Amino acid sequence: MLPVVALVGRPNVGKSTLFNRLTRSRDALVADFPGLTRDRKYGQAKIADQEFIVIDTGGIDGDEQGIDAMMAQQSLQAIEEADAVLFLVDARAGMTVADEAIAHHLRKQEKKVFLVANKTDGIDADAACGEFYALALGEIHHIAAAHGRGVNQLLEQALRPF
Ligand code: GDP
Ligand code: MG
Repeated sequence: MLPVVALVGRPNVGKSTLFNRLTRSRDALVADFPGLTRDRKYGQAKIADQEFIVIDTGGIDGDEQGIDAMMAQQSLQAIEEADAVLFLVDARAGMTVADEAIAHHLRKQEKKVFLVANKTDGIDADAACGEFYALALGEIHHIAAAHGRGVNQLLEQALRPF
């Protein structure tokens, strides 16, 4: 079995951009995976000769009920299926109530979680990301999914145990 990496986070933080960068083509989409649903997208990816499965979660926007529904319906299931979880936040938008709600769920489970600040291109990332330490998920990994900055380094670290 290949290691599985789940991408979670509120809408618009860049999960699908990262998924597309990691999988690169529609051919990478996985058609048969236990629990496969239309709410989550599964792709095959490879970094530094390590193949893995990446899960994109998405779809629901916004209000607090939406966040709960999102966590219940797909993010929690993706986390369940994952060996490592990449929790994306938006370095430009700053911290939101939705980020805090998701972090609350993530702190309660056992999977290895990487807190990932995306969209750090063209900004002072250290200044912009400091507030995310309040999510109490440890180190903050800076990336720019749209440009690839920090992505391989992050995945190599997440996949190191496998
Ligand atoms: P999702 O809802 O979490 O899947 O987010 P998307 O991948 O759809 O991205 C939401 C928006 O953020 C899109 O307009 C992306 O182009 C933009 N975006 C994603 N990654 C980056 C990045 O690294 N830098 C910048 N500046 N924008 C990004
Ligand atoms: Mg998406």
